[in-house]
Amino acid sequence: MSQPVPAETPSARSDCEESRHPAGGSATPESPTGGAKHVELSRIHDFASKLCSPQVLEQLKAYVRWQAAMRGGAAADRPESAPAARVPDFAPVSINLDITTSCNYACDHCVDMKILNTGIRHEHETLLESLRRMSEKGLRSVIVIGGGEPTVYPKFSDAIRFMKSLGLQVAVVTNGSGMRKIAEVADCLDEQDWVRLSLDSGSDEVFQAMHKPKKRITLDEICEGVAAVKELSPRFKVGYSFLITWKGATINDTKIVANIHEIVQGAERAKRYGFDYISFKPFLTRAERNHAEIVDLRDTDRHFDDVISTIRARVDEAKKLDDERFKVYESTNLKVLENRSYRNYTQQPATCHMQFFRQVLSPLGTYNCPVYRNQPHGRIGDKDAYASEERSLETRSSLARLIDTFDASRECSEVTCLYNHVNWWIEDLIRSPEKLDAIAAVDREDPDYFL
Ligand code: SF4
Repeated sequence: MSQPVPAETPSARSDCEESRHPAGGSATPESPTGGAKHVELSRIHDFASKLCSPQVLEQLKAYVRWQAAMRGGAAADRPESAPAARVPDFAPVSINLDITTSCNYACDHCVDMKILNTGIRHEHETLLESLRRMSEKGLRSVIVIGGGEPTVYPKFSDAIRFMKSLGLQVAVVTNGSGMRKIAEVADCLDEQDWVRLSLDSGSDEVFQAMHKPKKRITLDEICEGVAAVKELSPRFKVGYSFLITWKGATINDTKIVANIHEIVQGAERAKRYGFDYISFKPFLTRAERNHAEIVDLRDTDRHFDDVISTIRARVDEAKKLDDERFKVYESTNLKVLENRSYRNYTQQPATCHMQFFRQVLSPLGTYNCPVYRNQPHGRIGDKDAYASEERSLETRSSLARLIDTFDASRECSEVTCLYNHVNWWIEDLIRSPEKLDAIAAVDREDPDYFL
């Protein structure tokens, strides 16, 4: 299924609880985002705070010290010659797990269309072994997401239960066709876990036109599955994701179906069927230059004002449905697009530090960022990159090289990256590692390890 990612990353649920940066500011001192028109990051996007949680802080400190040593060190410490053993021995804190590339829809707006239904798959036991090893090395959360539709993975329930038995936080992003599979695992999901359905429409007519399910299923039938899941367990949140599209938006050389007129209808439907929230995000496309996922709208576009003012009016109307039980969220990248501050989020430091903390594990390989899933310049290793001690060692070398050579200031110069703040914050710590001593663990009542 199609994935909204770091231009509002796949991990980017759009809960919008405000929070503060653990270092006391809302942006790093040297970040180009500091001082500009500022949209406060929602709590789930306060990645710096998450990296300061007691269970993760050691990983952050080891990474910062390693980077600082490398920058100030001799040639032998350079990633190309440094032994992998010098790279901090941690798995990423959070992964996007593309559990399958199979999909039972043919969405017109799919950013992953070229990798779908290739027949390339995970070996189930190897996948479980990778997860087990990663959890021993600091993995805390898994977002089971795209490339394909997670619930069509034959051992979906087994994989989810295994991850929960490892104590991982688990989220599932689904097209909704497999709510029966979600119901099967509802009993093992906790308060911090979540399920989000990518529905992107208010009517069945637009739903069918956008998603083109290969086997007949209606939007009503999908939504009816939510009540059944809630009855089994009300513990975790179930969200309705609405990727807003407009006339003229294109991907894969194809004009996509517009749904901008169904924003309010989508929110009414989500509330009526018992979803916990609806989140609105702008449509993403692929950049021509490097296939990065980017928002398909710029303030230089002729129709920018019309599209933005229409979205604003309709999202404001939808927000009238917001109450204690049901929330209406708009994504950070929608807000920064509207106030034209999105370019601040495209000015990345040369080094993307989040590659160390959050990666994508797919049947096609292991990648540095959801924006570059299946892109050769974001590749860290194969699908079994963490499946054995030997492979993990190779992966550490490969990751060290990528951290050194992947120039985020160039590669991601069109991406509205929500990791921009945390990347600049870590950059500042590497330049002034003595600041690490002043960072205390942030113990949250409801720890959230999704990155
Ligand atoms: S800066 Fe890093 S996290 Fe942001 S889009 Fe680039 S690779 Fe992804």
